[in-house]
Amino acid sequence: MRFPVAPLGQGHRTHMSLPAVHAAQDIAAGAFCHEGESVRPVRIQPERQNGVGFHGPKCSMVNGSPRDGGLAVRVGVDYAGGTPRASPSAGNNPLEEALRIRTEALRRIRCAAVLSAAAVVFTASAGAAQEDLKIYISADMEGVVGTVTGEQLGPSGFEYERARQWMTEEVNAAIRGARAAGATEILVSDSHGNGQNLLLDELPQDVTVIRSWPRPLSMMAGIDDTFDGAIFIGYHTGTDNRAGVRAHTMSSARLTSVKLNGVPVPETGLNAAIAGYFGVPVIMLSGDDAIADEARELLGDLETAVVKKAYGFHSAETLMPKAAYRLIEETAARAVARIADFEPWDLGEPVELEVSFKNYRPVEALGYLEIVERIDSHTIRYTGPDMIAVGDFLTFLLNYDSNAAP
Ligand SMILES: [Zn+2]
Repeated sequence: MRFPVAPLGQGHRTHMSLPAVHAAQDIAAGAFCHEGESVRPVRIQPERQNGVGFHGPKCSMVNGSPRDGGLAVRVGVDYAGGTPRASPSAGNNPLEEALRIRTEALRRIRCAAVLSAAAVVFTASAGAAQEDLKIYISADMEGVVGTVTGEQLGPSGFEYERARQWMTEEVNAAIRGARAAGATEILVSDSHGNGQNLLLDELPQDVTVIRSWPRPLSMMAGIDDTFDGAIFIGYHTGTDNRAGVRAHTMSSARLTSVKLNGVPVPETGLNAAIAGYFGVPVIMLSGDDAIADEARELLGDLETAVVKKAYGFHSAETLMPKAAYRLIEETAARAVARIADFEPWDLGEPVELEVSFKNYRPVEALGYLEIVERIDSHTIRYTGPDMIAVGDFLTFLLNYDSNAAP
């Protein structure tokens, strides 16, 4: 049996089974509070910054009956000067303490095997589902399980229909994991090739998907400061990286290097910087081992799901699809469960972009623009007021064609 649980205070609803609610209540009460007490969630969203963090645990009496989910954890985040930090309190680090308790609650749920939907119980016990928690998923294909050559990556390839299925199932797995850990709203951007790879009938019907190009913010179209975290699925290394299946940045045919503020970046970096502008951290990435390493080097702490080991530009040792889905689901759940840990990759203002082209003529033509500096035969520099301007410039650069029709 499933019924809606009305969370404390806010009008958001989530669906929990009755045993899940009861189990969650027992576990949370046992883990957190004195008898008759509970704790409740809080989300704080200052301008341009948002997130879920922890003040707690902070126990208090609650009104809710067991049936309407009178259990929660106080979560929140304080921001000072745009930097997330746990709110100060006497004694031990409240953030660490709250995370420790969440982890312990999850372990206890699993040990007790109260329900098959253990993660759902965890969500209730930790209270994350009781507030809006928005996750943005950007999905590419080169880093999807099984894909190694162009034969899987475009509609004319012999195995493309299989690869679309793998990509769709990887996104499904990320959605399942994110939701199990408390995500309430999910936006997916189909960010590979023609932007029409995901099989819409096979995704949950309560998400939305952004398709085709060109579009503002490209692979991050639709993101804004209401999102709590971004997940990158099927990502690959950048064109400056010697390793990784199908290493390239935005266009393997046209670009040989892309730098932000002097640092070479893969698409992961470009897109993390766009998310960072809105105060949204990248919490998880899936792909081959090379992009997992590159992403960690660039962004620091994030959860990664390695679904294949790159042997070369067109070769990898890959997991089997179902093993990859399981890994991605677990990783997404882990990332969302500790979403307060991650910091946005905010490059500040202004942002300097350098792009090197394979060919000579695009560089010559761009050199006619006053905002563009041609710094060598194949490279231009553009300094934008912020990352959004840089993203728009890149979108122009990759889409402008004086012969374009219609
Ligand atoms: Zn791609």
